[in-house]
Order: sequence, then structure tokens, then C-alpha cells
Amino acid sequence: MKNFYDSDFKLGILGGGQLGRMLIQEAINLDVHISVLDPSENCPCAELANSFTLGSFHDYETVYNFGRTVDVMTIEIENVNTDALLALQREGKTIYPKPENLVIIKDKGLQKAFYAEHGIASSDFKLITAKSEITEFPIVQKLRTGGYDGRGVQVLKRAEDLDKAFEEPSVLEDLVDIEKELSVIIARNPAGEVKTFPIVELEFNPQANLVEFLFAPAVISQEVEKRSFELAREVVTALDFVGILAVELFLTKAGEVLVNEVAPRTHNSGHHTIESCHTSQFEQHMRAVLDLPLGNTELLSPAVMLNLLGQEAFTGAVKYEGIAEVLAKKGVTIHLYGKADTKPYRKMGHVTILSETLEGAKDVALQIKKELKVKA
Ligand code: ADP
Repeated sequence: MKNFYDSDFKLGILGGGQLGRMLIQEAINLDVHISVLDPSENCPCAELANSFTLGSFHDYETVYNFGRTVDVMTIEIENVNTDALLALQREGKTIYPKPENLVIIKDKGLQKAFYAEHGIASSDFKLITAKSEITEFPIVQKLRTGGYDGRGVQVLKRAEDLDKAFEEPSVLEDLVDIEKELSVIIARNPAGEVKTFPIVELEFNPQANLVEFLFAPAVISQEVEKRSFELAREVVTALDFVGILAVELFLTKAGEVLVNEVAPRTHNSGHHTIESCHTSQFEQHMRAVLDLPLGNTELLSPAVMLNLLGQEAFTGAVKYEGIAEVLAKKGVTIHLYGKADTKPYRKMGHVTILSETLEGAKDVALQIKKELKVKA
């Protein structure tokens, strides 16, 4: 079987979005050939991958046939055809993260059950198939599969909210009294080496229920930091995971740390690492899945990341305003994802701001939020 050291080695990625695109940027340095499968011919990776296959990552035959053309496979989206991956794995293909892990993680119900089985701290929950089973309020309802970026998650405050409840298999979770939302990006390679990036703090856009700002490092006590790292290690160890795992955590008002959910891939909460750490999350993921030593994850500078979300009133061919003003600032890097069209709250790019202090970086981020506009 070919590996990284062979000149005709190919790494396949299921999904051609911005996460794949930023992985390609790092793959260039290690001279890794990247093959991408995505259903959209205009996806962010289409023009940049060494080879691009148009097709659905939900379809068994398509994923299976794509897998036969590469040496190692990884993903940038978890909602893929895992039956095809399991078949490829049985035939000897190296696939990281392991398909068994994806089966659990892509279903929020199986994921919560996994935490309960392994004694990993997470909010209490039950699984339901119809909304008639919802009898207590307030409660959080999450679709078991297919939700992303806050779509598929809703808080039902009182019985009247049942009108908007999902009539689909879902997880009902206790509503957590959240002090802060934190994220730990952790990497593990096949040899069992584990490295964590410094913990970050996330701030959500209240309308869209998705991350708008990220602050690194998180302003938390040493105890909370220690507990967060402990939980992240418990999860990668229990899963016997390989690759990058993003562990989203809640710090409760009572000071407890709970696992919200994990993503088995590079994650929005690690984008700042491209500029603020010696090794980015994308390089780290590649090192992990290619069975190479993991890189240094130290934070070289405080950082803020601002997601560039499509503005609410605009749909269509994207036009950015304020790019020149932002580029003129010190310590600022813009990443545009190459998406031709914008729509409300679509992730179109991000900006990373480095500064000597976190406060300084936050000030600049707030200015940029006012200046940089995603219109159509
Ligand atoms: P997604 O996979 O769409 O990102 P999450 O499960 O991370 O969905 O939920 C999105 C957001 O909803 C969380 O970041 C948090 O703000 C809120 N949320 C999710 N679960 C709970 C909970 N049990 N209690 C309170 N808020 C929650």
C-alpha cells in the first residue's frame, strides 16, 4: 500500500468546501496530491484540487468508486456515505477518521448515547421520534442527522413552541445555563500521539445561531482549562480517534464543563491557527491522517477570528465591500472561500486578527465587522 513517501501518493477528501480548500493550501507545502469529491462544480475546491470528481458523497457507488482512486481517504464533512467507507476499509483502504467514528458522530443521538456509555460529561437527554413525546419545557430539540450551523437545533421554551418543533427523530436535551461556549481542537495520529490547541471561546450570532467571533486564548480559570483538556482527551481516547477532532464544550454558570458535541474534522473554531499557531489545524489534520509526527500547537499570539457571513438582505452573486480598508490594518488576514453566491448567513470567508493583546484584537475585529460587508 502506498504512503506519503511515495511520489504518486494520493489523499482523497470527501467534500470540497472551505475546509478542503484550506487543507489544500497546507498540502502544497508537503507536496501532497489532493483528490476531491463534491456534488458542486463551483465548490471552493473545484479549481484547486489536483484532481476533482463531481458527484455525491451521500451515494454509495460514487464514494466507493472515488475511494478506489486514492491511497488514504479523509473527510471535510461528516454526513457522508459511511457504508461505502466501511466497505473500502474492509478491503484495506486507510480511512481517517475511521468510518465507525463517523457513524456515531454524524448521528447526534448515537453521539449522546456514546458519551453516556463512556461516562463523558454531557447534558441529560432522551431520544424521540415524534413531537408528541415532548412534554417538558424548556428543552432543546436537535435533529439526529442532517443539521448543521445551528439549523436543526431549537430551544422550545413553552408548550406553545410545539408548533415549530421538528416531527423527526431527534434528541431532546436539557437546556444548559451557559456561561461560555468553548472549543478544544485535539489531534491524534495512528501511533496514539495526542496534541491539543489552546482553548478558544466562541461568540454566537443571536439571529443565525452560528459562530460570529472566536477569541484565542479563552479567558477561563486554570481549573476549567484543565477540565476541558481532560474531557477532550477522554473523547478521542474513547473513540480511538485519528485526525482532528473539534470538541465543543459548554462552561455552565455553575462552573461545570460539559461536552456539547464533536466534529470529526477541521473546524471553524480552529481557523485562527493558520496565523496564530506554528502548526495550523489543517496541517495537523494532514500530519495525523498521514501517520506523521504532530506539530507544535503553541499559540504565538492572541487572536480573534471573525466569520464573514452573508448579510441577511442579500442573495446572489457576491460583492465584498471594505476589503481595502481591512487589508490596510496591521495583523489582519482575510480568507475568502471562493463561493460565487451569497445568501443570508452563508459562511463566505473569515478574517483573523492578531494583536499583542486579546483586547486589542477584539477592538480591531469590531471595526472590521462594521467595515467589511458581504452583499450581492
Ligand atoms: P450545530 O451542530 O448545528 O452547530 P449544536 O448542537 O452545536 O448544533 O447547537 C448549536 C448551538 O445551540 C450551540 O452552540 C448552543 O449555543 C446552543 N445549544 C445547543 N445545545 C444546547 C443545550 N443543551 N442547552 C443550551 N444551548 C444549547
